[in-house]
Amino acid sequence: MIGRVHRPTSLAALWPLLDDGARPMAGGTDLLTRGRGRSLGEVALLEGIAGLDGIVSEAGWLRIGATATHARVLRHPVVRERLAVLAQALTSLGSPLIRNMGTLGGNCITASPAGDTLPPLYALDALVELVSRDGARRLPVSEFLVAPGRTTLAPGEILAAFLVPLPPAGALHHFEKVGRRDALAIAVASLAALVVRDEAGQVTEARLAVGSLAPTVVRCREAEALLCGGRLDRETLLAAGQLIRKRISPINDIRATAAYRREVAGKLPLRLLTI
Ligand SMILES: Cc1cc2nc3c(=O)[nH]c(=O)nc-3n(C[C@H](O)[C@H](O)[C@H](O)COP(=O)(O)OP(=O)(O)OC[C@H]3O[C@@H](n4cnc5c(N)ncnc54)[C@H](O)[C@@H]3O)c2cc1C
Repeated sequence: MIGRVHRPTSLAALWPLLDDGARPMAGGTDLLTRGRGRSLGEVALLEGIAGLDGIVSEAGWLRIGATATHARVLRHPVVRERLAVLAQALTSLGSPLIRNMGTLGGNCITASPAGDTLPPLYALDALVELVSRDGARRLPVSEFLVAPGRTTLAPGEILAAFLVPLPPAGALHHFEKVGRRDALAIAVASLAALVVRDEAGQVTEARLAVGSLAPTVVRCREAEALLCGGRLDRETLLAAGQLIRKRISPINDIRATAAYRREVAGKLPLRLLTI
């Protein structure tokens, strides 16, 4: 059940609605389905606020508005060419219907450990831009997400945009989602990887972020360090997988046991051999 629906057309009109307890709503694909039977109270739709859905290239960065739908982000040429790890995750998120309604901002605020866009945003070192009537602040997405369903968003604040530094051209991007079925699957485990190699094939930079294996996404710095300076061979990737296993704290739930998740987590880097 939903209470009164407001459709502000500016941030100035949004702030008093938030003060009065209205909840921001973007695509509604999480908010409306999680409400199930409970009253949602008043909601303030963000879709009518100009500028919140823009996708703009800035020097060395892509700024992605929080209310840009997954489908729009996926269509953007810079996302396809330079942020392929995000594009790959978006391709496996939900269904065309969900991708047309759901937004990058909504996926982030929901803060599910299984949120598909989160490991790529960690691997891309993305920042979030939060705005309130008092101004704007930016912080790494990894500092914004603190626990399942919990972020550091303050009362009266909304997520306005993601700022994504463009990785070097030619970097290897990979997103893998292990689920119980091919379509509309919630991740049992996922890996977002970004690897830069020199002309001799030696890894000069590696970023690995896993999802669904801990309360929040985990960046595996030890595994990243292990890959740097070497080659992406089977032995090294298995060793990186062992380090990932040490960093995670998977749970048993209806989709998989913790033991299965741990097993899969150690094997995920091997897929980098096939790209
Ligand atoms: C059938 C189905 C399949 C799905 N499959 C997947 C899947 O495969 N992978 C996956 O990751 N997710 C999946 N989802 C979850 C969901 O679609 C995504 O998380 C989506 O990105 C949520 O975005 P939204 O715009 O619909 O968020 P909303 O439902 O509008 O909002 C979600 C939460 O964020 C808040 N919010 C939204 N935007 C802002 C903002 N800019 N600032 C502050 N607060 C905000 C809302 O108040 C609410 O608390 C699925 C959902 C359904 C119903």
